[in-house]
Amino acid sequence: MDDRDGVIWLDGELVPWREARVHVLTHTLHYGMGVFEGVRAYRAEQGTAIFRLEDHTDRLFSSAHILGMRMQFDKEAVNAAQRAVVRENGLQSAYIRPMCFYGSEGMGLRADNLRVHTMVAAWDWGSYLGAENMEKGIRVKVSSFTRHHVNITMCKAKANGNYMNSMLALKEALECGYDEALLLDNEGFVMEGSGENIFLVRNGTIYTPDLTSALDGITRSTVIDLARELGIPVVEKRITRDEVYVADEAFFTGTAAEVTPIREVDGRLIGSGSRGPMTERLQSLYFDLVHGRLDAHADWLAYV
Ligand code: PMP
Repeated sequence: MDDRDGVIWLDGELVPWREARVHVLTHTLHYGMGVFEGVRAYRAEQGTAIFRLEDHTDRLFSSAHILGMRMQFDKEAVNAAQRAVVRENGLQSAYIRPMCFYGSEGMGLRADNLRVHTMVAAWDWGSYLGAENMEKGIRVKVSSFTRHHVNITMCKAKANGNYMNSMLALKEALECGYDEALLLDNEGFVMEGSGENIFLVRNGTIYTPDLTSALDGITRSTVIDLARELGIPVVEKRITRDEVYVADEAFFTGTAAEVTPIREVDGRLIGSGSRGPMTERLQSLYFDLVHGRLDAHADWLAYV
């Protein structure tokens, strides 16, 4: 990742990709206290546009607020930085990664002289869970790792350290031959994937876990809006693992994962074992939306 041409925005400047470095005593590297975002830009009909840029930046600032990190730039600057990295790297579509982290100004948990640094990188990134799986669907394993407890880590923050839990779960699922993990909360209810929110379809109604310990996904809220606009009822409620097994359809949502069908969970086929009709409808509507092919929600596209 580090040896390539291009530029990365670091603390207000565009620096050559290979020179965007930090010291080994970078505080966030040691303790995981940092916040980040995952954003996508698509080659839309009228040019390259970042999807829901302002909502991602709002969440980044909320995450920092939750962790008590003092941002050094305002939202406009962070929005401009995201546009700049897409543009300056000549990307038509991109995955954008803003992150705010503590530097190497001090070490130890008590360090009080730390500065919040901000970086934004962008690169070309195709389907996160595989292009063919967008049609075929993925195989998912309920994880032996429990999702965060709301008073242990701050689940509404997209915080670096939270992803240790995601990586453990994903590694376990991959080593067992699955494509993705599904994490249950500390009471055993379905919560989310390692980097996705989950939805079920049963008898024409869409269900998704209420948020508690899941990230407030921007794709989740987009899909809820799209479904309701189609007149499909969406219910947010506690969901059990066996409700997933007997769903007609299931899918994951996320900026990276977009709308990914789930065809199997723990060796049990979901519905017909392929992408269901409701999933297909919402997936194609989502792709129309991010590619600027819909009149509705044009304000969600920020042209670079
Ligand atoms: N849950 C987790 C744990 C995630 O990392 C992500 C990806 N950011 C999501 C859900 C989906 O969020 P979004 O749709 O905003 O990308």
